[in-house]
Amino acid sequence: MKHKLWVGVDIGGTKISAGLVEGSGKILHRKKISLPVNLSRKKIISVIFSLIQELLEDEGVKARLLKGIGLGVPGIVDQRGVVINAPNISLSGIDICKVIKRRFRVPVVAGNDVNLGVLGERWLGAAQGYKDIVGIFMGTGLGAGVIVDDKLLLGNHGAAAEIGHMLINSKGPKCSCGNYGCLEAYVGRWAIERDIRKELRKGRRSVLRTLLPPGSKIIKSKILAKAISRNDPLITEVMKRAALTVGDACVSLRHIFDPQIIVLGGGVIGACGDFILPLVQERLAKDKFFSKLGKCDVVVSQLEDNATILGAVALTCGI
Ligand SMILES: [Zn+2]
Repeated sequence: MKHKLWVGVDIGGTKISAGLVEGSGKILHRKKISLPVNLSRKKIISVIFSLIQELLEDEGVKARLLKGIGLGVPGIVDQRGVVINAPNISLSGIDICKVIKRRFRVPVVAGNDVNLGVLGERWLGAAQGYKDIVGIFMGTGLGAGVIVDDKLLLGNHGAAAEIGHMLINSKGPKCSCGNYGCLEAYVGRWAIERDIRKELRKGRRSVLRTLLPPGSKIIKSKILAKAISRNDPLITEVMKRAALTVGDACVSLRHIFDPQIIVLGGGVIGACGDFILPLVQERLAKDKFFSKLGKCDVVVSQLEDNATILGAVALTCGI
């Protein structure tokens, strides 16, 4: 009989993934489902219910035998597990732990998806054995999580470490949050795409014109990676600028948190990490202020898509 099992759920703006996980962190089974845009709150909850239910049924596990369920939510989650604000999915204001607990009758905890991703990397990934960690996740936007002296930094509202919305130029481009000149407005995938499309509209040549499937609404990270591998001047230029800006942000973060390690993760890093990492490292190496204080490792995520699922389980287990 299977025993001591947890479920970790990674709720994203466009997809939800869930894993059935052993106490060792081994993922026994994993499922993913795409979410149509503008799905109602009721429908999102019902998708989460059925995803967890299917995960259990596939493995022949009874829900009551679960030790707990952990949820990674793309937004601000307070200490009780209530979603305070989730800009990309209709879950704001919901006591999501209570709702899931009522259905499965096991302990449920929730946290910000990127914070949990960093917990996952500390448990089983690139940040194992470290106690002062900064994790930066470059996806559509830019999320981050910070662990100081072995403790996840949450702040007063659970909104700490929103590094993507660190204001770096108040006269800069408009950000997804409504402010102007946030870091995300320069280096999030949507911002990279904005810069590329602007150049394409001007008529600039790029291999992207042949790589992009006709009518595609977004430029996926894998397409960016392909264009870089073909030495496309436009994509290389835009991506280099973004990578060096992330590098600058890492210098600032090092001065604020003095971490032992910085972990870069998320979809853009998963696809283009080989290109971005050396540029970030180059920026940090030039940091004169810290030159006498020893090194701060910068690495890419090891858990990739599983970081938040495993971090959600780590939160449930109190790891
Ligand atoms: Zn912002």
